[in-house]
Amino acid sequence: MRKQIAAANWKMNLTIQEAEILIDKLVSEDSSLQSNQTTIYGVPFPYLSIVLSTLEGKNKGFAAAQNCSERNNGAFTGEVSAAMLRSMGVEFVILGHSERREHYGENSAMLVEKLNRAFESKLKPIFCCGEPLHIREANMHNSYVEDQLKETLFNFSGSQLNGFIIAYEPIWAIGTGKTASTQQAQEMHAHIRTVLANHFGSSVSDSISILYGGSVKASNAKELFGQPDVDGGLVGGSSLVADEFATIIKSLKS
Ligand code: PEP
Repeated sequence: MRKQIAAANWKMNLTIQEAEILIDKLVSEDSSLQSNQTTIYGVPFPYLSIVLSTLEGKNKGFAAAQNCSERNNGAFTGEVSAAMLRSMGVEFVILGHSERREHYGENSAMLVEKLNRAFESKLKPIFCCGEPLHIREANMHNSYVEDQLKETLFNFSGSQLNGFIIAYEPIWAIGTGKTASTQQAQEMHAHIRTVLANHFGSSVSDSISILYGGSVKASNAKELFGQPDVDGGLVGGSSLVADEFATIIKSLKS
């Protein structure tokens, strides 16, 4: 069975003191992950070290960066490279989040470069896609998401995408309290898997974990994650509350 993943996206929230309390609480939760389950903490760059050392040797999950540069290294003040992240033991990176696409102008060409840098450094991407509200209302969401995948992931080989992670996040559901219905989530996840199967073959598409993101909470996680093509979630607001996120982790399929 492909990996079932609860991924936190802390975004630009919490002080270091609050972050330490949160990760300590989550790590001390009396719950063990099954072999097909993973927890990933997408935290701000300055908190990666502390999260890495808190998680070390405990089988309680992995740290992720929320972005990396599309460049290798050099005179790019303020940027953080994939190689830097990997050199400190970070295993995952969130790429293409809609907030980065919207506020920082990340387009498909740039995301292909970021994916390249991540693959070169053996950093595993959590690649985000998803449509805005007007596209959903115009009933064009399937082709919109399909285009996002074609413009980016289709530049890579099936072997690079074996075991890859995609997060489908309808933009209208992010941070709005409005969640896609389980049927809307399952339909889109199945569509994404079909698009991938048609291009890469079903053994690759069956290996790809497709997470749902958009106002996942303790109260709706079990139903969403219970859908056959929903392999867990990428969680923003509810990942900042220890009890909420602990319940979300326990809602993963085993
Ligand atoms: C996200 O940041 O990826 C997200 C889905 O946020 P929220 O859970 O707050 O909607």
